[in-house]
Amino acid sequence: MVKYKVIVDRQTCIACGVAPSLCPEVFVLGEDTGRNRVTQKYATETTEDISTGVIPEELYECVKQAADACPVGAIKIEELKE
Ligand code: SF4
Repeated sequence: MVKYKVIVDRQTCIACGVAPSLCPEVFVLGEDTGRNRVTQKYATETTEDISTGVIPEELYECVKQAADACPVGAIKIEELKE
């Protein structure tokens, strides 16, 4: 099964809330800086500057929608090779 790495550039994020509203399973505005982060369930690392996570294939579409809709291009997705 294909998995994807999700990378949120929290320094670039302007906390508009679009990512969590389009894909609440994977994104949430952090209680620390108010900027987007990967949810606890899928996160691998979160600092004030960056948040990364690994998601299964079935969540790709909603993450892609959020990445495409992000006004500042702060969300990147990379396919993980087995
Ligand atoms: S859509 Fe972009 S700017 Fe808006 S909360 Fe998500 S990452 Fe931040």
